[in-house]
Amino acid sequence: MMTDKTVYVLGAGFSKEASAPAQEELVKQIFEIDRDNPGEFEDGSVKKFRSFLTNILLVPQKLHDSVPLEDIFTPLDRCIADNVSFRNLSVKETLKARDLIYYLIGKTLECTLRSSQKDYIDQFAKYITDKSSTRRGHRYANLDPVSVISTNWDTLLDDSIKSQISAHYPGEAVVDYCCHFSSFESNDQSVMPGLEMLGLGGFSVKLLKLHGSLNWLQCPKCLRLYVDFHNRIAIGQYVTPVNCRYCDTQFGVQSSHKLISNLIMPTFLKNFSNPQYKLVWQAAGIELSEASRIVFIGYSLPQADFEMRQLLARMVRKDARIVVVDYGSPDEHRIAEKMKRYEVFFGKRKPQFYLEGARNYIQNHLDEE
Ligand SMILES: [Zn+2]
Repeated sequence: MMTDKTVYVLGAGFSKEASAPAQEELVKQIFEIDRDNPGEFEDGSVKKFRSFLTNILLVPQKLHDSVPLEDIFTPLDRCIADNVSFRNLSVKETLKARDLIYYLIGKTLECTLRSSQKDYIDQFAKYITDKSSTRRGHRYANLDPVSVISTNWDTLLDDSIKSQISAHYPGEAVVDYCCHFSSFESNDQSVMPGLEMLGLGGFSVKLLKLHGSLNWLQCPKCLRLYVDFHNRIAIGQYVTPVNCRYCDTQFGVQSSHKLISNLIMPTFLKNFSNPQYKLVWQAAGIELSEASRIVFIGYSLPQADFEMRQLLARMVRKDARIVVVDYGSPDEHRIAEKMKRYEVFFGKRKPQFYLEGARNYIQNHLDEE
């Protein structure tokens, strides 16, 4: 099938204009929220995190704000993967430390996005939902105009798409994460795999989240992925753990199938061996290969993101049009560097740049093809 297809690739800059904190500011934000609204976090959780930074990473308190997430998660994940202790933490305590930091990060994103200005994200959601709706009535074999690949954990876009579906296409459409997932609530009919909805004559809006999502939890036994649009379940799990309901039925209620968050953290040794992530990444490769146009919004193509770079290098067609949306002026060093990175990477497929930001692009240029 060689038709016009646009794939949007979203990075942190996409959510930033809705006031999502950049990854490098997340640790600082944890302490700011705790200072301004001490009731937000579970009692004692921030204190435990401070103690981890001071006693395990040996960082003095005045430098806590500037610890990069990579320096926290790279050793934690390596120790857990290799089953070795991390300084004076046993493997079990290392896992607990990671759970705690998962929770603090998730909660921090939730707090900062509670009052976000996401008008432009709603508009984007409407646009891609309407485009996807052309696949209704079993026309999906011939039509596949759009999909979204996101490196963000937040659910701003997911929630906006869900609202569009509830308002304009109730019972006819689903958000499709392009892996095998089940609804968190057993009777939630609004969560089902995209293929199932296509088979029923409806349509799906494809949203591939390469690093996971705050509304996902996974069973460590059967590896089912649970999705919920009503709660940020990856955050709630720290306070109120929930079991896999299928494994409870098959094996009885056991702590061995307590659901866990499976977000991919910013480390230099990301582990994508999880079968659900393998599916998402494979699907992302296919989406990229089918794209006649790829629009990067707020994604900086960093060297450290070598997994993403190899995917793009392998799967983007030589005739694909590349559009890069960012915010700033070419005179700024940061922007000049980024433009250079894209130009070198895509070479003959000369990228076209819009530097007025995500909101402006979505409000004014989304229909220009
Ligand atoms: Zn299970």
